This record gives sequence, C-alpha cells and structure tokens, in this order.
Amino acid sequence: MPASGAETASQNRMSQTSPTQANPRRSLARTFVAWFDSWAAAPESSVDRSEKIDWLRVLPFLGLHIAVLAVIWVGWSPIALAVAAGLYFVRMFAITAFYHRYFSHRTYRTSRVAQFCFALLGASAVQRGPLWWAAHHRHHHRVSDGPTDAHSPSQHGLFWSHVGWILSKGNFRTRVELVGDLAKYPELRFLDRFDIVVPALLGGALYGLGALLEAYAPGLGTSGWQMFVWGFVISTVVLAHATFTINSLSHVFGWQRYESGDTSRNNPFLALLTLGEGWHINHHYYPGTARQGFYWWELDISWLILRMMSALGIVWDLRGVPVEVRESNRKARV
Ligand SMILES: [Zn+2]
Ligand SMILES: [Zn+2]
Repeated sequence: MPASGAETASQNRMSQTSPTQANPRRSLARTFVAWFDSWAAAPESSVDRSEKIDWLRVLPFLGLHIAVLAVIWVGWSPIALAVAAGLYFVRMFAITAFYHRYFSHRTYRTSRVAQFCFALLGASAVQRGPLWWAAHHRHHHRVSDGPTDAHSPSQHGLFWSHVGWILSKGNFRTRVELVGDLAKYPELRFLDRFDIVVPALLGGALYGLGALLEAYAPGLGTSGWQMFVWGFVISTVVLAHATFTINSLSHVFGWQRYESGDTSRNNPFLALLTLGEGWHINHHYYPGTARQGFYWWELDISWLILRMMSALGIVWDLRGVPVEVRESNRKARV
C-alpha cells in the first residue's frame, strides 16, 4: 500500500523549507549532537525525505569500516577470532529473534525484564535502537517493493536497498507513530534515543578484556586493541552486511514459493548466514509467526533457540505456522 499523495505532497512542501538548509552551521552542530543523541535532530531530519546520504551523520559508520584496516597492525589470535565469531552469532540472534521477530512482529511474548535484556542485546549489534529498527521494518512490510519502501531493490537498486537507505537523511528519524506499543516503555525509548551507549560499552569491555588477557594470559597472543578490532570492529561490520543482505539479496536471488505480491525469496545460503532470515518469502507471506523455516529441512537456527528459550520459560506463546497457511497460495511449479 503506497503512501498517500497527501503525505508525499506534504513531505515535499516541508523539505523545501527545511531548517537544515536554512542554517548550515546550526545543522552541523545538530548533526554532531545526533551522533550521541539520535533523537536530537529528529524534527529536522524528519522533514527531509530526500534520498540523499547524510555523509556527516554517517561518519562513525564509515569510520567503523575504515577501522577494519587496523587489523594490519594488531594482527590476529585464535582467541580474538573466537570472540569475533561468538559475538557475530549472539548479536545476529539478537537481531533476528529479538529486533525482528519480537519487537517488529510480536510473534511471541516475554516478561518486561527479558524484553529489556533483548533490547540491550539488540542494541549491541550497532543497528540503532529497537524502536527505530522495528518501525522501519513494519513500514517495509506495509509497502513492500512499493515506491515508498525504503529498501526495495526493484525500486531503488541493489546498493540503495543494501546500505544506502540506512545512511540517508530521510531514514534517521524513529517513526514512533508506527511503534506506539513499544514506545510506551521508557527503558526502550532510552535505548533508542541513546543508541550509541550499548555499542560504546561493548567496545570498551572488549578492549579491557584484551588488555587483561595480555597481562594475565600472554600465551593467548592477544591485546586490548586486537580484541577491540576483531570483537567489535570486524564482527560488527560483517554482522551489519550479513543482516543487510535480507533487504537486498533476499529480494533478488532465490526461489519464490508463495504468491506474496513482492520480490522476496527463499535463499538457503542467506538463511544460514542470518540464522534463519533467508527464508524471506516464507516470512513475507506469513509474518505473524516466529518461525521462518517452514519445514524441518529449512534450517532456522533462531527458531530452534527460541523453542529452547520457550522450554526454559524465558519466552512463551511462540506462534508457529498453521499447516493450512503453509500449504496454500503456492506458486505453480515450485
Ligand atoms: Zn523483505
Ligand atoms: Zn519482518
């Protein structure tokens, strides 16, 4: 369902009078503040819907990519690689099982304390706050592959659907109006507004861990900076691009089992990389389930872990896939 003409006209009108264009120095200061307080620039960025990358605002994101080169100086060790891989796995699970299947789609229930822990873990993935993530994702499902879909490869090309959209001026604002059910919790609003806090704590903790190991277990061959580069920088960059493939590649490469009305596809390789998210047309076809691999042979690691968490009583009311839903609306010859 595309955005109404009234909305688009209003956005265009407002962008013409954007204060960011009227006062560049003030805009610079606000951008700097927005690095630390993501809601600070919301009133201004919300009126600028243009598909332009905000290069100043995304300097930290670009810096993270450049920092990967530091591996030349810090080297590697088995322990640093293991920590990087472990953090990739845990944070990918947090993105798929918490940010996506819980906050965006509410496909199971949990306690308020666990909900906060889920948001904390999700925030450690450095993909902004839970409200921002869920709101943009809900919008994606509403208008999937339509003109207002922020990351549709068929509308905006592969680069834009992969990473361009997340860097653009029009997509920085948390669309609180789409996540009223989550915004009522002050602890979630805090994590969303100050979305740099958890990543900063994680980065600092990893440096501290590496420095401690260097002092007390020198045989492991690591150091503060090496652990920071592998555990935070490299792990986070790989995690980001693996997640982004679901918006880009999962709408281009793979098989379409259902008549979902969009370009989403099932892709086993991406499902492995993202712990189950690559069963993407399954998900677009029936987003109300916590399960994305609809058959036993469609490996969905997040679903398996969620079932374990359900058995332990950490989450409950996990929504599965009704057989009649799974078996209907199939495309011919698939
Ligand atoms: Zn999609
Ligand atoms: Zn979804």
